[in-house]
Amino acid sequence: MAHDVLVLGAGMVGVSCALHLQQRGYDVALLDRREPGEETSYGNAGIIQREAVHPYAFPRDIKTLLSVAGNRRLDVRYHPRAIPALASPLLRYYARSAPRAYAPIAAAYASLIALSIDTHEALLDAANARHLLGERGWLMLFRSDKQRDAAFVEADNLLALGVNHRKLDAAQLRATEPALRAELSGAVYWSDPLTVRDPGALVKAYAALLFARGAAWHQGNAQTLRQTTEGGWQVDNQHGEAVKARQVVVALGPWSPQLTGDFGYRPPLFVKRGYHQHFQPVAGATPRHWMLDEERGYLVAPMARGLRITTGAELAHIDAPATPHQLRAVEQVARQLLPLGEAVEAEPWKGARPCMPDMKPVIGAVPGQRGMWCAFGHGHQGFTLGPATGMLLAEMMHGERSSIAMEPFSPARRF
Ligand SMILES: Cc1cc2nc3c(=O)[nH]c(=O)nc-3n(C[C@H](O)[C@H](O)[C@H](O)COP(=O)(O)OP(=O)(O)OC[C@H]3O[C@@H](n4cnc5c(N)ncnc54)[C@H](O)[C@@H]3O)c2cc1C
Repeated sequence: MAHDVLVLGAGMVGVSCALHLQQRGYDVALLDRREPGEETSYGNAGIIQREAVHPYAFPRDIKTLLSVAGNRRLDVRYHPRAIPALASPLLRYYARSAPRAYAPIAAAYASLIALSIDTHEALLDAANARHLLGERGWLMLFRSDKQRDAAFVEADNLLALGVNHRKLDAAQLRATEPALRAELSGAVYWSDPLTVRDPGALVKAYAALLFARGAAWHQGNAQTLRQTTEGGWQVDNQHGEAVKARQVVVALGPWSPQLTGDFGYRPPLFVKRGYHQHFQPVAGATPRHWMLDEERGYLVAPMARGLRITTGAELAHIDAPATPHQLRAVEQVARQLLPLGEAVEAEPWKGARPCMPDMKPVIGAVPGQRGMWCAFGHGHQGFTLGPATGMLLAEMMHGERSSIAMEPFSPARRF
């Protein structure tokens, strides 16, 4: 029997889309080659980033561009061999980051981010998953007074967008996090965000809710997707059985265009790879908060498996071998910031943020393909935006009035 909707991809985005469609009465099947929440949605920093109303722009000033080109920064690195393939999306990204192009992008992004906390809150309760949450809010740390003061001004500017914060000077920061041992000038404490001590486990909890409510689960390769003679869609599961549905949602994160490309839709997605590794906490010196060392460009998160250090961006081909130089370099910096024990895993985890040149996810109907929808390209904030995306896509598919304007996220837009 055909399902109403087949959702391809069981990351935070796919699971959330499936849940919101199910809430509207659709019979949903979910398919992934792995178990839910084991790729990008597992390895991230676990922050539901209500403060992230301004998406990461490409640097435009010559000093930063030269230092990025030097390829020795802690926050951004690249594989020189990947640059020819990346040139086109990166040039578009650079163009979209010019102030005039960026302003409407940031406004649209802010409208999406504003939905993030409420949409997670609703699922956290239903999935009985509040035990996975860490301390509320996170700390953006500063080493210099100049950078701290600039960030204080910027934080005040975000109040109008409903983003709340507290300003901490050096002494207040020491009192908040006594484990910090570096000389710091202060911090912005973003007070709205939620933090998650095991991001993969949260996706699994949301998926368990979906299955408990009757959705079908299949493992298999989404690349087997094809149209049925009746005008619907089907994929093969791992047992070689056909899973059929009237409509399909592509939520394969960074792998999405590999599939939509087979159906003539090739958005210019590129990836910013990132790494993480856990370190044993040192007794009596475990930080309570998630902390971004803003002037160095890495994050420390007190998670279930230990202190998770996550890196910034590595521009590389998604499948290129791991080159965890950034992680090794920031580990040394982090050890000066906080006492860290032994590494928990032998090798760092590697993942890929699915990024669009105009910094916005792609949510809506795939052009030219009846019954094919997509939800991908959430870049640095897919863990934050999964449930909001699920709600918005379900509204569109169900013919409801959208909670926010959806044109800026249209798959048919010019990137
Ligand atoms: C280091 C790092 C830190 C981050 N920190 C944060 C953060 O703090 N907050 C935040 O909001 N975001 C963060 N992000 C970004 C966030 O993790 C991603 O945007 C988000 O996880 C993307 O979710 P997704 O569901 O689109 O993709 P994924 O979670 O990657 O899900 C895609 C799924 O598709 C499946 N799949 C792919 N191809 C196939 C196929 N052929 N057949 C079957 N299945 C297939 C995969 O197995 C996978 O399960 C971070 C990312 C990184 C790398």
